[in-house]
Amino acid sequence: MSGQPLGHAGDGGTWLPPFADAHVHLGLADPVAVRRGGIAVVHDLGWVPDVARTWPGRPDFPEVAFAGAFLTAPGGYPSDRSWAPPGSVAEVATPDDAVAAVDRQVAAGASFLKVTLHADAGPVLDDVTLTALVGHAHARGRDVVAHVEGRGMAARAVEAGVDRLAHAPFSERLPDDLLAAMARPRAVEHDPARGRERGNCRNEPDDDSNPVLGGAGGRTAGRSRTTWVSTLDIHGWGSPTAEQDVAIDNVRRFVALGGTVVYGTDLGNGPIPHGVDERELRALAAAGLDAPALLGALTREAAHPRAADGVDDLDDHVERPRRASLATWIPGDPPDPDDLDAVCAWLARAVVVDDPARAQRAPATPEDRP
Ligand SMILES: [Zn+2]
Repeated sequence: MSGQPLGHAGDGGTWLPPFADAHVHLGLADPVAVRRGGIAVVHDLGWVPDVARTWPGRPDFPEVAFAGAFLTAPGGYPSDRSWAPPGSVAEVATPDDAVAAVDRQVAAGASFLKVTLHADAGPVLDDVTLTALVGHAHARGRDVVAHVEGRGMAARAVEAGVDRLAHAPFSERLPDDLLAAMARPRAVEHDPARGRERGNCRNEPDDDSNPVLGGAGGRTAGRSRTTWVSTLDIHGWGSPTAEQDVAIDNVRRFVALGGTVVYGTDLGNGPIPHGVDERELRALAAAGLDAPALLGALTREAAHPRAADGVDDLDDHVERPRRASLATWIPGDPPDPDDLDAVCAWLARAVVVDDPARAQRAPATPEDRP
């Protein structure tokens, strides 16, 4: 690791690919401040679909891909929460309801679906309805992101074919066999996101010009069957809790098995800073991510848009021309990659730049390497 540069030097700083936060609620945050804070791309994981559809393409916002409404069982989380406005929750009682709810979110422009399985806060979907929801989302070319909370919920989500967990699991120490099942390589032919990514990468897989943290490819070149969004800082916001300890232990073991973890904060839920959250990065470092892995967790979602290409004609809400022009610039010299405290502090000084000429100076993500 030592001696490898952390990006392309230039203009008094360093160029990197755009950073993404894969778990935000823009309806509870200030999107302009998010972008000013160094985040170029966000995934909104739950809000009123007719509001969310107005977010993509705003020049002062980060790029936005959104889920639309929280899909949940009647009376399930978060239907009873004061922060969830009317229209932000779609209650699903039957497989037919699930199909209709998926279609409504897709019609509004959703890039993925969000389902909640919070067994400690009300009813949750039964297996038949959950499986119908996931199956129909996949038929529409959309991944499913699940909030899992309470014992056994992570296993149920994986069994139903959920693609992504909105939080690193924190309710229980997950058994190794479940982690291994989630960490298995994802089949490319069943992965609409990767189908699209092929035509969208800045560098071809055989392009060896990327000096970012050399050697970071290998087992991280693909995506695991289940991706986790980190959200470790929601547990205490700097005053670590027992739940954070559980989540960090799960992340450490999941990553060791080849699992994919991406950076996400659940912005809007408690005192999470707008922009890059240094505490989130430090927690990921505590879970064993080194500097290349931290950079990969921050950048892979911006390089790999979630919507499927050509699956249907509703996908054009993703601003692909802008996406190619976005980059990150960090002032000053990069720190020693082995000094993870310094790396986290440095990454948190990120600035979003939207300039095609300069974006070309930002290398591809570590995962794009062969
Ligand atoms: Zn959330």
